[in-house]
Order: sequence, then C-alpha cells, then structure tokens
Amino acid sequence: MSENAKELKKALFYNSENGAETMEDGEIREADSFCAGYMDFLNRCRTEREAVAYFEKKAREAGFTPFIAGEKYAPGSRVYYNNRGKAIILVTIGRRSLREGVRINAAHIDSPRLDLKPNPMYEDTELALFKTHYYGGIKKYQWTAIPLSLHGVIVKKGGEKVIVNIGEDAGDPRFVVTDLLPHLADEQMKRTAPQIIRGEELNILIGSRPFKCDDESEKVKLNILKLLNEKYGIIEKDFLSAELTLVPAMPVCDIGFDRSMIGGYGHDDRVCAYPAAVAALAATDPEVTCVTVLTDKEEIGSEGNTGLKSAYLRYFIEDLAAMEGLAGRDVLAKSECLSADVNAAFDPTFPDVNERRNAAYINHGVCVTKYTGSRGKGGTNDASAEFMGRVRTFLEDADVLWQTGELGKVDAGGGGTVAMYIANLGVDVVDVGVPVLSMHAPFEVVSKLDVYAAYRAFSAFIAY
Ligand code: MN
Ligand code: MN
Repeated sequence: MSENAKELKKALFYNSENGAETMEDGEIREADSFCAGYMDFLNRCRTEREAVAYFEKKAREAGFTPFIAGEKYAPGSRVYYNNRGKAIILVTIGRRSLREGVRINAAHIDSPRLDLKPNPMYEDTELALFKTHYYGGIKKYQWTAIPLSLHGVIVKKGGEKVIVNIGEDAGDPRFVVTDLLPHLADEQMKRTAPQIIRGEELNILIGSRPFKCDDESEKVKLNILKLLNEKYGIIEKDFLSAELTLVPAMPVCDIGFDRSMIGGYGHDDRVCAYPAAVAALAATDPEVTCVTVLTDKEEIGSEGNTGLKSAYLRYFIEDLAAMEGLAGRDVLAKSECLSADVNAAFDPTFPDVNERRNAAYINHGVCVTKYTGSRGKGGTNDASAEFMGRVRTFLEDADVLWQTGELGKVDAGGGGTVAMYIANLGVDVVDVGVPVLSMHAPFEVVSKLDVYAAYRAFSAFIAY
C-alpha cells in the first residue's frame, strides 16, 4: 500500500464520480445521441397506453410475436404479452434453462396527471369546463396556468373505441386550469400549500362560445358537445365509458446552455422504461432469459389488473415455466430483478431534505437504491447484501457510471416502487434508476449522462 495520502484515499475511499468529468468525449456523444431517441419517444408517448403501443410496434419490428401459452419457444425466440393495452412484457428466451431463473427489468409507464371524472362536462357562467380527479402524487398548484393536452380512449355503447389525442400537434387547441390573479389572491395565499389549489378547483377550461340558435340554457356546453359529436360521434353519456386524461402539453427540450439535461413531462418513469426497452430489443441472444416489464398504475400503488400488485407477472412466468415442465415459483426463486424507477436528484436549492453522503447527484450515473420506503424502512424491499454484491460487480465489470442514493433524509418523507411486489414473488430485487429534479412536476429534469448510464446498466444486467 502506498504511503501517499492522495493515492491511499483513491484506493480506500468511496466517492461517486461525475461522469461529465470522467467520461470520454466519444461516450458523452453516444449518450447525447441515445437521448435524442429518448426525447422523441417522450414527446410521442404521454400515457401508458401510448407507451405500450409504441413499444409493441418496436417489438414487432424486432421480431417479437405475441406469447402463446403452451407453445415451446427455442432460445433466441422473442415474445411479448400485452396486458390490456396498458402494460407490456417483452421476453427473449435465453440459452440456459429457466430452472436457472430469469432476469427482469421492470419500469412503469404511467405518470401523474389529471384524469377526467366519469361525468366531467359542465357549464358555469358561460364557460364550458371539465371536472377532473388527479392521478398520482402531485403538488396541485403546479398544474394551473400551463397548457394541457387531452389523451385517452372513449368506448361507445357497443364497444367501438375512439382514440383521443388533442393538443400535441402544432395547430391543435390546448386546455388549461385557470388560477386566481395575485391581486385578488389574499385569501387563497393564506391557505396551506396542499390547499392553495384544491382537488375540486382543478377544472379544465374547454370553451366559451355558445350555440347560437334557440333560447336554451347551457349553450356553451351544447356547442362543445356538438363539436365533439361531429368529430368523434360521441354523446355526453360516452364519457362514462372513457379514460381521458390531461397531461402537460409542453414539448420535451434540452435544458441548460450546455444542453446537458432534458426537461419534459413524464420522466418518472418513462426515463427508465425507454432504456430498459431499448436494452431488451437489443438483446438478441441472451444467456439467461430476459423479461422486461413495462407496467401501469405504479403512481397509485400498483393496484388494478395492470399494476404489479396483481398476478399478471406471476401468471406470465408460470406460463413460461410450464414450457419446461417447471413450476413458476421454481423459476421466480432463482430470478433477479432491477426495479427500474427514478430517484430524487440532489437539488442545491432544497438541500435540507437530503443527507449528502447518501443522495443521488445529476451526472453521477444511474442510482442503485438498496431500499426505498419511509420511516423505519416501512414499505420497502430491502435488497440483500448478496444481491447488492452481484449488482455492483456486473455494473463495475461493464464500466457503468453508477452511484447510490436514498430517497431523502430519514424521516423526511419517502416513497415506494414496484420492487416490493416483485420481491414478494420470491425474486431478488433492487431499485436502479435515473435521478430526477422536480419529480412529479408537470416538467421534470434529468441528465443525459444518467439516462445513458441507465441504458448501460439494464444492458449489463441482461448480459452478465
Ligand atoms: Mn416512479
Ligand atoms: Mn412517481
């Protein structure tokens, strides 16, 4: 061992490194070009349904076919399972037996947003509006006075489905939640922050010109419904069997003079879903079967039949296992999973919520989080030292830029991911994801180098 303090520190201390300082120019260029693809995807896909349609198309182009239970698939076969258009599993069969387990990359493709209520449309004082019910954890005041677009599906009586996407194209109208002018906000500003805008105040402005003929009430609403009827053939009752959602209509863009970061809606968690899917599409001949799960409903606790608290992943693995005459649990017990979800990036404007030695930093790479949860590790998968050891080894062997970080200080709050639901199946799981600034805001920020590091990490996991 060296007697030189500088060298000794380098050998013994742990400090994550800033990739912008240590990465070769060529690799930084690769990261930037990878992110151009990600930004295009993020602009196109603002809901889980749009993300599933996008990845299903990419998968088909890459030779994936719909999985058929009972079929025998040879190594190298590529199959997918589309769960109700809101979640998708991509699989490439490996050379080794399923007896040795599978490698699972799991990310979610739903993001916080404003859903329309089942009976949303009304007119008040000559303006037409939609009532909403917010989805996921949001600071409600952030969703006022920004342009919004409308996405989703309407299922008419009889089953005909209409796909809605208004507000993304240049000529499209947009929608907005109005807020009070500061001049008249004295009382509003005395409310506590969660109440500055209340759930029932997240009303969407959708029109103002009345239907001109006849003497009737609610003529603005009537005129809007007439327009919708002409365009989509729908009547008001059709909203009852619809899933319509308002999301920020701001285009994805570079952030900073140096263009090192990306601003946009829905990084959480499409910033992990995209790299995981790209890694899955690139893995043509894996040693171990690789399973990429892009799931729904994480933002509301993974509930529902497209969320990972449901049995869809377990049943899928059981069907895979049956191919070799194995029980699903035997495969799951030998399997490993990266729960690919974002973490909070350290924000120098709000340093108090993080403990600096265990925080994730922009440009320090993909963040490996042993446990999430809150208080005394409540609501978490706590990855084992053994699995952390394997993860660390394959990341370092592949020269992936990575760091560790907790989601904030002990007792500052906290949050969970899908990790614990997959761990409940008997799988070894750890959280791995991209650090985000302004998480859950309508416009979130990530670092390009970190997005690329996530892609490298998911690829390394498949290949190790
Ligand atoms: Mn997330
Ligand atoms: Mn989230």
